[in-house]
Amino acid sequence: MVITPGALLIKSLLPEGAKQKYDPSLVLDKSGVQKLMSNIITHGGDTAHNSIQELSHLFFNTATLHGYSTPLSDYENDSEERQQLLHEFKTKVNEINNDKSTTPAQKNERLGNLSGEYQGMSQRMNIKYMVGKGSTAGKMALTGARGNPMQLAQGTFSPLMSEDIEGKALPIPILHSFAEGLTPAEHLAMSYGGRASTVKAQMSTSEPGALFKQIVPTVLNEVITTNDCHTTNGVIANVSDKQRIFSHVEAVTGQVIDDGRYKDLVSSGTKTIKIRTPHTCEAKEGICQKCYGYDSRGRFPRIGENVGIISAQSISEVLTQAMLATKHKGGVAGKKRDVFLEASNMLKMPENFRDEAALSTLAGKVTSIEKTPLGDHHVVVNDVKHFVSRAQEVTAKVGDQVYAGQQISTGTANPKELVSLRGMGEGRKYLSDSLREIYGSGLDPRHFDVVAKNLVKYVKVVEPGNMDLLPGDIVDISKVLPYLREDTKSIPTLQAKGKLLAHQALEVMPGTRLDDKHIQHLLSHGVDSVNISQSNAIFEPFVMGAKSTKLLDKNWVSRLAGSHLKKSITDAASYGERSSIHSTDPITPYILGTEFGEGKEGRY
Ligand SMILES: [Zn+2]
Repeated sequence: MVITPGALLIKSLLPEGAKQKYDPSLVLDKSGVQKLMSNIITHGGDTAHNSIQELSHLFFNTATLHGYSTPLSDYENDSEERQQLLHEFKTKVNEINNDKSTTPAQKNERLGNLSGEYQGMSQRMNIKYMVGKGSTAGKMALTGARGNPMQLAQGTFSPLMSEDIEGKALPIPILHSFAEGLTPAEHLAMSYGGRASTVKAQMSTSEPGALFKQIVPTVLNEVITTNDCHTTNGVIANVSDKQRIFSHVEAVTGQVIDDGRYKDLVSSGTKTIKIRTPHTCEAKEGICQKCYGYDSRGRFPRIGENVGIISAQSISEVLTQAMLATKHKGGVAGKKRDVFLEASNMLKMPENFRDEAALSTLAGKVTSIEKTPLGDHHVVVNDVKHFVSRAQEVTAKVGDQVYAGQQISTGTANPKELVSLRGMGEGRKYLSDSLREIYGSGLDPRHFDVVAKNLVKYVKVVEPGNMDLLPGDIVDISKVLPYLREDTKSIPTLQAKGKLLAHQALEVMPGTRLDDKHIQHLLSHGVDSVNISQSNAIFEPFVMGAKSTKLLDKNWVSRLAGSHLKKSITDAASYGERSSIHSTDPITPYILGTEFGEGKEGRY
């Protein structure tokens, strides 16, 4: 193994823990830098951020002292293998073009696949050759300092094939690089996709930003407030879903699931486990350290740490990236999933919810399914008609027993509707799980928990009972919990049908009226008794989606971080609203300034 002076310099700046894990043969390309950073963050302790700062100075100074320049030869791929690959590509494109036996759609798909395959090969071949011949542009693309291998390949190898404005491959092989200059035909072919992606990028980058501005205010009160809320409750998760349970605290034993514990669970053959999560935390305000679990640095987040903003930032950043990734990549055909569209639909829950599925509004038996003259369907459960639009297929069958909230057609359940039929707890879990599914596996599931918790937390009072509230009041569920728990009783789960839950059981939240489906779920995970409330208060969940949830916040200064500022100010003045300067919400203390950060137990 060769250790370079650069590797020694890097090692000298690392914190002690990270030094031991440092591999001096690590090549600092994009993934190498990522590995180095995650080593520092995971093993570097409190001085990790200093080390990162010092490393960035080292890299910056080294680049400056070297005085790299990038001559024209940096952009010239004069290799024999490039010519060979281009020739091969051209031959195959012509074969497909001249094949009389295929339909235009098949032709298009084959061209798209071919282009994708050759682009992959050309990028690998190009970056290897360019770095090999000492191209500074090549090194920059490899390390991610400027550009990436794909952009370099377009500039120095060839874009190979372009696409039209609908993303379909254009059957013209492009055999020159941007550095060499395109022929008029190649230029014209490139212009469609180029123009479309420029417009798309301009139009689309504003949307994730706007969504971010709506999510942040709804979660900025999610602070770590205490060490332990002492719940033994949590949600059931599969051990095979490592990301879902790793770094979480086991609800029963209170143990953090680290490498050792995870190996034990797997080798003992355990299938499911109850874990504590942010959305099942029972802290009065914010989230406790135990329900959050270890963060990315491998320790509990500190009391006062605002995990809400971290979550909002994480899920929004990925959306911006997803939006940009749909930009022009050069002719790869095939249907791509629109992550941004699906995620913003879930988070905003608009009136015209996209791809909405029909849910049964009651428990019962499907007695008939009728097709209307327009091609829609009516699914009758007991004697209640459910409309299923022709955009969806009916998935229930005559004779099926369904529960309230069960999906009876294809499509996506609207979280708003699911919450009203299944209760807040299941709604939160559904929202969090769905977002995780849409995003793919890249993000910590707890970010979705935190956001789901805050989008599903308000209730509307129908009958106040003993509560110090009026019918129609909309309040945070934490405000009604004390009333719900004034007069409680523990009863066997089997006898709890129709009863009002007083204390959380798995994800099922207090205030939920239990039905057969809840009871079945609780029993199947060993919850044999539940704590029910004998309160006569009636309230129902109230969900508005990311766009308007902030308007329900009782903290009027914080509400100004959202929209409808004029209404917030006039309401606050006419109702004499107050805003604490030491709450878990950072906005008021931050604006006032003088006592910022002096609140106790996670309050600012
Ligand atoms: Zn907790």
